[in-house]
Order: sequence, then C-alpha cells, then structure tokens
Amino acid sequence: MSWLLRPLTEQARALRSGEVTSAGLIEEALRRIAHLDGRVGAFLRLTPDTARAAAAAADQRRARDGAAAPDLCGIPVGVKDVLCVEGVETTAGSRILRGFVPPYTATAVRRLTEAGAVLVGHCNCDEFAMGSSTENSAHRVTHNPHGLDRVPGGSSGGSAAAVAAGLVTCSLGTDTGGSIRQPAALCGVVGFKPTYGRVSRYGLIAFASSLDQVGPFTRTVGDCALVYRAIAGHDPRDATSSRRDVEDPLPGLAGGVEGLRLGVPREYVEAGLEEGVRRAFEAACDRLAAQGARLEPVSIPSTRFALAAYYVIAPAEASSNLARMDGLRFGPGAPAAATVREAYDRARHDGFGPEVRRRIMLGTYALSSGYYDAYYRRAQQVRTLVAADLARVFEEVDAILAPTSPTVAFPIGSRVADPLAMYQSDVLTVPFSLAGVPAISVPIDQADGLPVGLQVAAPAFADARCLRVAAALEAVQGVAEPPPLARERVA
Ligand code: GLN
Repeated sequence: MSWLLRPLTEQARALRSGEVTSAGLIEEALRRIAHLDGRVGAFLRLTPDTARAAAAAADQRRARDGAAAPDLCGIPVGVKDVLCVEGVETTAGSRILRGFVPPYTATAVRRLTEAGAVLVGHCNCDEFAMGSSTENSAHRVTHNPHGLDRVPGGSSGGSAAAVAAGLVTCSLGTDTGGSIRQPAALCGVVGFKPTYGRVSRYGLIAFASSLDQVGPFTRTVGDCALVYRAIAGHDPRDATSSRRDVEDPLPGLAGGVEGLRLGVPREYVEAGLEEGVRRAFEAACDRLAAQGARLEPVSIPSTRFALAAYYVIAPAEASSNLARMDGLRFGPGAPAAATVREAYDRARHDGFGPEVRRRIMLGTYALSSGYYDAYYRRAQQVRTLVAADLARVFEEVDAILAPTSPTVAFPIGSRVADPLAMYQSDVLTVPFSLAGVPAISVPIDQADGLPVGLQVAAPAFADARCLRVAAALEAVQGVAEPPPLARERVA
C-alpha cells in the first residue's frame, strides 16, 4: 500500500527510521497526483519545484536533528485556495483574484512549513468558501474519490478529496458553517474545526470573519491532533486569536470515553436524516455506549432557527469583506469601461460567480437601513440563543454527538439549481459554528457505498476533549478504508 494512504504518524516513524525519505514521499505524492487527479480534480495548482526543494531541506533537517525533528517534518500537505502562500497565486476559487500572488503566508500554513511540512499545492474550493459541494469554484469541478459522479462536499472539497485519494498526507481547510466537517464526512476522512480563535486567521482570505476557522483534514484522529497542535495558538497578527494556552491533545488522546456524558440532541436525529445516515449514527452511538460512555438525550431548541440565522450573518459579513475586491488590480479588469463606476460594476460582475453575487446581495439587503432590525439584529439574537442553548447543554454533558451531514455525498449537479437545498447540507454543522465551539467529523461507516461521518462537539477550548472522544470512536471501529480508486497501482 502507498505510504500516502498510511497515517501521518506511520509516515513520520518511517522518515525517522530512514525507511523512507521526504524526497521519496513527495515524488510519490506527485506521481499519485499525475495518475489520479485528472479524475478527482482536488488540486488547482501544484508547486513541484519548491516542494522538491523543501523535501530535500526536510531530509537534511531529519539527518541533523534525528528524533528531535517534528513529526510533520517532510510530510506532503495541501492547502485550501483561501490560504495565502507567499509567491504562489492564491485565488479563493474565484476569477476576481486571478493573478493575485500574496506577499505573505498565512500563519497556519507557515506553522506547518516551519515544522518542516512540504507544501504540494493549493486545493480547489467553492468560490470564497461559499458552498457545500465545491461546484461554486470558478476553476473546476472536484469529484468525490468514493464515487466520481458525486460531490466531495464543500467548501473545502479539494482538501478533503486530496486526503481521501491519498494525494497528500493531510491538508488544511477552513470552516465557516461546516466547510471542513461536511466534506470530511462526505469523503470519509477526519476533519476538525477548532474553537473559534484557536487558530490564526492571518492570511486567510475572509468569508465571514466572526465564524471563519482554519483546521486540518487527515486520515486518523491521531494525525488530526498532531496537525491541530502545530497550527493552534495565539498570533499577534490576528486580534481574534486567543491568548489561552493550547492544551496538548496528545497525552489524553487515548483516554477513552468511560464515564463521559455524551449528549445526543433530539432535534438532530428527528430532522430529515437519510435512513443510512441514521442507522450508521445510531450504531456508532451504541459503540460508544459499549465503551462506557453515558449517552443522554439533550435538547437544543434553537436549532430550528440556526440555519436561517447563519444565512443572514454569513452573507452580511461577506458583503462587507468582499467590498474590497474591485476586480481591477487582479482578476478580469474592465478595459472598455467609460467611468470608474462602470469599471467596478463590470469587473465585479465578471469576477464573481452567481453564488457569491447572491450572497453579496443578501448581505447588503440584510444590513441596509430599514431591514437591519428585521434581519441582521434578529439573526444575531438567534446566534446568542444558540450559544446559550449549547452552554446549558454543556453543563449536563461533556460532549455532543450528531451526524455531520443529513445525507451522503449527492450527485454532482443535483443541487446547483436549488440554493435552499444546498444550504440544507449545513443544518447540522452550523449551530456549532454560530457558538464558536470545536467540532470534529469522524468517518463511522458507509451507506450505499458512500461514507458517513459523525460529529463530536465540545465546549469552547475543550478541543482536546473533542479529539479524545473522536479517538475513542475510531479505536472501536477502526480507521476508515481508503476508496478503491486510491488503491490503484500508480506507476
Ligand atoms: N456551506 C456553507 C456556506 O455555503 C458553509 C461554508 C463554509 O463553512 N465556508 O456558507
């Protein structure tokens, strides 16, 4: 089996013992991408030259530092196209940023490369991270490695598919309302949205700043803990990043769930789950109960309003964040425009895709005078209610269990004409985003041959507990199998 299909921890062990080199891993990643990514479409652009140079440097560092070298040293990673990398075009999946070459690197990415991780390229995503299927990318369609006619989820679909297909060992995505957890569930990998403010947003092209969070995709929960630990922590360049010490999730990771109280929200299992998802979820809950966890039904009544509130707040923030995109310095420009106003109008119209335009209009409307109280203020009130509901539940239980997505990966094209159906994908992930609490998706089973994920949410800054419950689940059921496509022989 390819090294790229094995856990990061095993790759690190092999790098340490000299069984493999980073140069070898990177060549394998590039070969696998050449062989498989024509069908998957996870990557938008590759940086093979800098990757080879970084791999050589990582091998030297390991030779010099031996066991002291970080686990990540020499490991191939991909990053979502919303994370800036100095000197490498970064477009947020949009035409309007075509040609934008950032003069700086996002903190989360920099922390990985400082640990010796090797950047292989940028992964596809929905334009400005708006979407649940990656179909809103201006550049290309990404296919789910478990079924090429299916979406990989979104908005970090390329990052999820890249790990699922074994093109890289791990990747970074971002999650505003579910964009790490939902694609992780649909692609059968682990995806973690840390507590809001736990990972720096510096160098992340903003969608909705009060919700955006950077986090990892990996094959195992242990790998996820490693990558999380590397990227978490205060950053003076992001005023919303927390100054609290980062609790190291690794020492307690194997602590199990015995005696832990795990809440299952009534509203989440009642609402429109596919039968296969429901069955897989219930079976996983039973497995945790068999490990000594105390499962308790809980209620989060505000869940009913959370999705609607999210789809006011996120577009409102997006309309403000995207106001700076003029489409003139980068992107399409407007060579024939007669006035400055017309130049902006044209360049923004040509530069933004339909979903982004819809969000800008929704958000501008919700913030406009006369409507502000009816929409934006109310949505903020719902947000407060959701946070209060969750705080109350977390007084009774240590963590919450929920399905990640109400359905398995849906066919490509099946929801593009119906934005509301697309927004429904986020109904189970959005409440934890509004409350800013950590939540992870772990693969639990398959339904109709497609992966199903379970979400574990914990109180703010109990990220380590979130990972520990996820690890307990993985320990009883085993790590998810990679898709058949990923097992093809690569010459
Ligand atoms: N699917 C949600 C949206 O379209 C969430 C996106 C995200 O988390 N970036 O807004």
